[in-house]
Amino acid sequence: MSKFGSLRLSRSSLKLFQDCPRCFWLDLHHKIKRPPPFPYTLSSAVDFLVKQEFDKYRPTGELPPIFVQHGVRAKLFNGEQLPVWRENFKGVQYFDEDLNAMLYGAVDDVLEFADGSLAVVDYKSSGSREIRIYEDYQKQMDIYNWLLDRNGFQTQPEAYFVFYQVDKTGGGFQNALPFIEQLKAIKVDKTWVGDVFEQAVMVARRDTPPEIETPCPHCIYVQQAAQFFNPPAKKSKKPSSQEPLIVLE
Ligand code: SF4
Repeated sequence: MSKFGSLRLSRSSLKLFQDCPRCFWLDLHHKIKRPPPFPYTLSSAVDFLVKQEFDKYRPTGELPPIFVQHGVRAKLFNGEQLPVWRENFKGVQYFDEDLNAMLYGAVDDVLEFADGSLAVVDYKSSGSREIRIYEDYQKQMDIYNWLLDRNGFQTQPEAYFVFYQVDKTGGGFQNALPFIEQLKAIKVDKTWVGDVFEQAVMVARRDTPPEIETPCPHCIYVQQAAQFFNPPAKKSKKPSSQEPLIVLE
């Protein structure tokens, strides 16, 4: 990565920066990535199907029933930008000329209100007993709204999660997985995003990785394991006939 070249940071790379600036730097400069989580193929399949279902309402201007039941008065956004906004590695983009850097993030869906303002919708599926809005979910919505804002769109103070929670009351699987659909609205806070984006860009342009105060378990593992992968060179010594020969099997 050129120190002075343009940067493209995704929403998830901003999350990585907030989790650990050092890991963020290692990823950007050396493509050293944290161990990936298990692929969320079931969640991705649910997202895919919900998108298909919601898209049937879009041309008519009707809302999917879950929004109507909760008194949301809007329609699904049908602007020409939506296909790009939903596309991974593109999404809603904002290029900051001063920072010479772009931030982007792909949304699941967007609502449009009568005054033209927009609200972001994200689909989540879960097998947990309780629906929880994790801190990362909140930040995700904050970033999307900040990006829409920077693109000149007026945004609503709220964003919406449509949760699909596995219904475990059926007494068996029977080769079908029923879900309970729930809508949760959260207040959006865009105030922190610009500063964190700028800080991430500053760290990305450093020649050396930032120091960390408290290493996480991954880092401790790497430090401890490294001594066995790169042992210090020892003077060769002929084993005496008394020394046992250790054989690893
Ligand atoms: S402490 Fe180390 S392994 Fe953990 S996130 Fe930071 S750089 Fe990565």
